[in-house]
Amino acid sequence: MALIYRYKYSFTIWNAWVLEFPESSIWGDHDWVCDIAVKNQHPVKTLDTLYTIVTIIKTKNMKKIIVIVALILGLVGFGKAQDILPVRGLCIGAPNASQLTTFLKFIDEELAPRQVNTLVLMVGYNFQFKSHPELSDKGGLTMAEVKKLVDLCKKHNIRLIPQINMLGHQSWADKTGKLLQVYPEFDETPNVKMPEKYVWPNADGLYCRSYCPLHPGVHKVVFELMDEICDAFETDAFHAGMDEVFYIGHDSCPRCSGFDKAELFANEVNKIRNHLALKNRQLWIWGDRLIDGKTTGMGMWEASMNNTYRAIDLIAKDVMICDWHYDRPDQTAVTFAMKGLSVVTCPWRNPENAVVQAQDMERFRKYATTELKDRYQGMMQTVWNGTDSFLDQFYGKKPAGPDSESACFKALFTEINKVSITK
Ligand SMILES: [Zn+2]
Repeated sequence: MALIYRYKYSFTIWNAWVLEFPESSIWGDHDWVCDIAVKNQHPVKTLDTLYTIVTIIKTKNMKKIIVIVALILGLVGFGKAQDILPVRGLCIGAPNASQLTTFLKFIDEELAPRQVNTLVLMVGYNFQFKSHPELSDKGGLTMAEVKKLVDLCKKHNIRLIPQINMLGHQSWADKTGKLLQVYPEFDETPNVKMPEKYVWPNADGLYCRSYCPLHPGVHKVVFELMDEICDAFETDAFHAGMDEVFYIGHDSCPRCSGFDKAELFANEVNKIRNHLALKNRQLWIWGDRLIDGKTTGMGMWEASMNNTYRAIDLIAKDVMICDWHYDRPDQTAVTFAMKGLSVVTCPWRNPENAVVQAQDMERFRKYATTELKDRYQGMMQTVWNGTDSFLDQFYGKKPAGPDSESACFKALFTEINKVSITK
């Protein structure tokens, strides 16, 4: 009941509050109003509390306002109320035009009520770039279509973060990605030929191609793509991927050969971070290249076996780390937080692990020092088997087993919301 109550009334109350006192947006999102609503368990009582605050605020100066609001929020139990995770996210491929209506419905009817507040959309080249039309996928999203996503996410206070893979993942299986198709000179390993039939492992160690971070022309192109997509999505953050980079500092690259791989990786992270910072945008990346695969036993996929992990000490501290672990609920978030980095834990398709990971995140926040607490930013469900497949499973059009992405997503957000209302 409490959960239903929270969903049903909190937005109504927030709307009433903002109408009465529009300046309140400077205090961040509406979660603290929801806190009061849940605490009071009655919409009229909650509105009474809020109107009392408004009346006092309107007659006092700013310094007194802050003190009085703090006092009143304390009285209604704000300090003891839920500690909902700051990031409650979903990472999924951007829909194509034909999926857009279903996807918008999904945001409206499923993400918003579950209090999802972060949506990382893996856009890649699925967008009609004006700066580089030669790189756009055929039928990529138009500005008008992106605008529909932007407007709906704004309506629900969902932070929309577009993603394009930087550095690694410039090919997949036997297909070269768009960037290296059009600009093959950016390839870190141009001498490695694409196989007719891809198998892993292979003699070339080819998993995915990378662009060469020291090529003099690559950043002009990728930064123009980043800028344009961030403008289109009206965002203050960009996800650059940067996971599973196997080709880096390759011996055959005339520019990178012999360089320290950790420094090459960190320099590329920082270069992208610095470019985004010019427009006050935050960089998000996957965390696997920053974990020592050998010492931890986590291996070459979810951690690094090619000596990039020391980059954890070399990258800017305001880069958000998306720490994915799909087979075990590894507690690597602690490592990132201790290094001064903010971190979001990311499950995939194991609901049991996802629940443990969410509980761990809550525990980390609860028992951390003040300095560490806010670095434990939250949780983000990842979807890798296609947006169509996920939605079909979610809506029951396709069977979803107990270890499916949709089952994991549902379990994760049940847990996140349960934690938030029972505290
Ligand atoms: Zn290179």
